[in-house]
Amino acid sequence: MPCLLITGGAGFIGSSLVRMALEDPETTVVNLDLLTYAGNPDNLQELTEHPRHCFVQGDICDRARVTELLVTHRVEAIVNLAAESHVDRSIDAPGEFVRTNVTGTFELLEAARAYRATLTTERALSFRYVQVSTDEVFGSLGADGMFTERTAFAPSSPYAASKAAADHLVRAYCTTYGLPTLVTHCSNNYGPRQFPEKLIPLMVLNALEGKALPVYGAGSNVRDWLYVPDHCDGILRVLARGIPGQSYCLGGGMQRTNLEVVHTLCDILDGLRPRGDGRSYRQQITFVADRPGHDLRYAIDASRARTELEWEPRHDFATALRATVDWYLANRPWCERITAGVYRRERLGLGAGATP
Ligand code: NAD
Repeated sequence: MPCLLITGGAGFIGSSLVRMALEDPETTVVNLDLLTYAGNPDNLQELTEHPRHCFVQGDICDRARVTELLVTHRVEAIVNLAAESHVDRSIDAPGEFVRTNVTGTFELLEAARAYRATLTTERALSFRYVQVSTDEVFGSLGADGMFTERTAFAPSSPYAASKAAADHLVRAYCTTYGLPTLVTHCSNNYGPRQFPEKLIPLMVLNALEGKALPVYGAGSNVRDWLYVPDHCDGILRVLARGIPGQSYCLGGGMQRTNLEVVHTLCDILDGLRPRGDGRSYRQQITFVADRPGHDLRYAIDASRARTELEWEPRHDFATALRATVDWYLANRPWCERITAGVYRRERLGLGAGATP
């Protein structure tokens, strides 16, 4: 029975990946997550008693703990999603991003390298390490073009730089030590269970509470949106069929400006939960100071994943965005438990000393 160690599995994408991996009746999942502010046991609610899911609260920087899990569960592959993931927080406090994203990845790689050396030749050959990275490592596009696996890294934010540093280590461990590593570069995800500091859940929740919808700058920054199950399907295909040493770009082919996304969300909410005064939620939009170093545009050319992995995003943006809004409307207690903690949906990332 294949055993995966998925790290960060109590987060937004990780919890979706754990669910999808468990759909295969042959797969067991060890889910290692530190439960930082972004890790949420509620994301795993119906999985707590699942016989093939083992949740472990712990730190990817703890090499001894990781090694113990690899050995005890006879792990066959690691998929690393554990990370500090919010650009604005990386502007305010980059240190934690270097610790988790760079040092944490290094510790995982070292644990994997030593563990793999103890395996039989057959098991060592089939062992895999998948690093879930981002398109943000490539920096910003201008008006034209798309990122491919051959695009040079040029990260703009401390978050992107920490992910790029980790990706370099992951590739180097393949070249130097023969560890069968793979890297995915994905565009912006959306879907259920995303922490409400990110654009889409933040806008939905603020709208419903009659609060301002803060759009950075003129709202003209473009992102390429991908529904989270499509991303998870891509990760599992990379794991099963990807070639060690390679990287794979995964994108939804859905380029939208931030303002377009916010307008669409307002229109969906106008239909589903009209405001009491008959006016559109659009009138709650306010334009606020831009993010320092804000990348203008991301867009992914996913040709390699399409050709080599037969991967295709299956969900169209309009339907999946509506399903996402439906999920937040139907799961208000999930949202309320988060905002009852320390997070108050305040503006982050104006970073004293950062370049505007
Ligand atoms: P998230 O912030 O929702 O989840 C991150 C998870 O990692 C949390 O559960 C947290 O508790 C855990 N974690 C943090 N530090 C840890 C540590 N030291 N040890 C163990 N666990 C730790 O993030 P997400 O949006 O689900 O992103 C998951 C991964 O996908 C990240 O690596 C991110 O860089 C990458 N990614 C995200 C997107 C996106 O749009 N969200 C796009 C491309 C790539």
